[in-house]
Amino acid sequence: MLFRPRTRHRIDRVRYEPKRRLLTVETRTQLTPSMLRFTFASPDLADFCSCAPDDHIKLFLPDPHGPGEVMRDYTPRAFDEARKILTIDFALHDAGPATAWALAAQPGDTLAIGGPRGSMVVADDFDAYLLVGDETALPAIGRRLESFSREKIPVTTVVVVDGPEHAQTFATMADWTPVWAFRRGAHADDATLLRRALNAWATPEGDAYVWIAAEAGAARRLRDYMLEDRGHPKAWLKASGYWVRGRAGAHEKLDA
Ligand SMILES: Cc1cc2nc3c(=O)[nH]c(=O)nc-3n(C[C@H](O)[C@H](O)[C@H](O)COP(=O)(O)OP(=O)(O)OC[C@H]3O[C@@H](n4cnc5c(N)ncnc54)[C@H](O)[C@@H]3O)c2cc1C
Repeated sequence: MLFRPRTRHRIDRVRYEPKRRLLTVETRTQLTPSMLRFTFASPDLADFCSCAPDDHIKLFLPDPHGPGEVMRDYTPRAFDEARKILTIDFALHDAGPATAWALAAQPGDTLAIGGPRGSMVVADDFDAYLLVGDETALPAIGRRLESFSREKIPVTTVVVVDGPEHAQTFATMADWTPVWAFRRGAHADDATLLRRALNAWATPEGDAYVWIAAEAGAARRLRDYMLEDRGHPKAWLKASGYWVRGRAGAHEKLDA
């Protein structure tokens, strides 16, 4: 299915056959104090496909409350087409089956995944990009930065993490301006910290694409700010709740 908003910019939707795959952990790396990176190999990855940096896959994890499984959404952080190696980054937090799996997993362990079911491919032809979020958004933000195929596109990232040791750096052809907001020592919630940090982003001359992913309440406030206060066009904004405070396994699509 192809969807074109009333703009000169291409936003294409791609669908894939849903498929369950069983992966084996190859490597485990502590990326930052709060982020674990795993690479996975499997013959099941032979036909794996993920076109967009903010695609998501389902992880099938043991249900902590009984037999059976629960599902959690994660970003395919990278896929090495030649070696068929999939990378997933886990932002660690207090509790939850996905976090527990990541903390315990070692090379040789297995993990079942499903998807991605589809991609929303946003072209590189906007004049500027703004990517906003928390730790859970960093895998998609890093992949997006790495994926720009045109040089010198202005890209600003505004990301909230606990402190400077949780910041990451990415290789990119874009003209990248990273803005970090730190929670530690701050007497404000993520939405307020990100909202303040957004003052660093001057609305550019041309067309900009805005992408937001964070805790659902924060993502909603930032989306409303961009649309209502900054007058950003709705067709050029995507906002998602990547988790919901106090609710396990929650995903809230706010705008697509
Ligand atoms: C499209 C999409 C892509 C995503 N990609 C990634 C990714 O690549 N890497 C990644 O780490 N996460 C990613 N997430 C977020 C991840 O799915 C959630 O954080 C998920 O809830 C984690 O599952 P869990 O089993 O650890 O915790 P859950 O069992 O879901 O939650 C347990 C408790 O922890 C809280 N909680 C959940 N997440 C967080 C958090 N990040 N910080 C603080 N408290 C939290 C919940 O509110 C709940 O109270 C993505 C989410 C979506 C929707």
